[in-house]
Amino acid sequence: MGMLEGKSALVTGASRGIGRGIAAAFGREGAAVAVNYRSNEDGAAETVEAIESEGGTAVSVQADVSDEDSVRRLVETVEDEFGGIDVLVNNAGVLEPSTLDEMDVETWDRTVSVDLRGTFLVTRFAIEGMLERGDGRVINVASQLGIKGAPELAHYSAAKGGVISFTRALAREVAPDVRVNAIAPGPIETDMLENTTEEWRENKEAEVPLGRMGTVDDVAPTAVLLAGDGGDYYTGQTLSPDGGDAMH
Ligand code: NAP
Repeated sequence: MGMLEGKSALVTGASRGIGRGIAAAFGREGAAVAVNYRSNEDGAAETVEAIESEGGTAVSVQADVSDEDSVRRLVETVEDEFGGIDVLVNNAGVLEPSTLDEMDVETWDRTVSVDLRGTFLVTRFAIEGMLERGDGRVINVASQLGIKGAPELAHYSAAKGGVISFTRALAREVAPDVRVNAIAPGPIETDMLENTTEEWRENKEAEVPLGRMGTVDDVAPTAVLLAGDGGDYYTGQTLSPDGGDAMH
């Protein structure tokens, strides 16, 4: 019997990368999974197929997490499909490096809109059902950069720091019924880092105490922990599968 048998989950940004890894791990543990994506329909279909090929249940649902109407539809669709959302993973995110002196205001707004406002919006509409049922888990994918910051990522670091503070505040507000936690991964091999240079990677590997980049499989087990019975006594926490990059 899987650790998430009988549960339903919504994972935002699950068409690739960390979101896909979390969705697949949830599927393996027996959860019915809603795979959200913004534009990569084929990627979302591949995530669904991967879950179904291992005997799990999954559906894909398009929505832009930064758009209120789109998010209302997303939550309604998943609740209708699965009868409720037991576990919400706010994973969708964007990263567009820029020094602050050259940053377009639009770049700042886009980052904060998806990474912070998106987390608020999906949680805002999914929490109603969780509070009605008196149970639920919210897992917010932040970043180690929300703790330590990084050059060219003031917008991203600010948004992810906001996600961590949102997690703590909401955890206090909705306890003891709903548990709200964050995951702050370190550098993980996904499309998000595809534009980094070899030099950046070498420096990063030297900086991280465990001496390597992480993989999606280094992150997904933390989400499974927080979603399942083993996560019963966690709320307001930020767990960091980051090779020791940001110790806190
Ligand atoms: P990724 O490979 O670039 O995937 C991003 C995912 O987010 C995609 O599924 C994308 O959907 C979705 N997305 C983007 N904007 C969206 C929107 N407005 N509405 C709905 N979905 C949207 O990134 P990743 O590395 O897996 O990152 C996942 C999360 O982990 C992000 O929150 C990121 O900030 C965080 N994180 C990543 C790292 C890292 O090193 N990779 C480290 C720390 C934290 P489409 O495919 O449809 O575009």
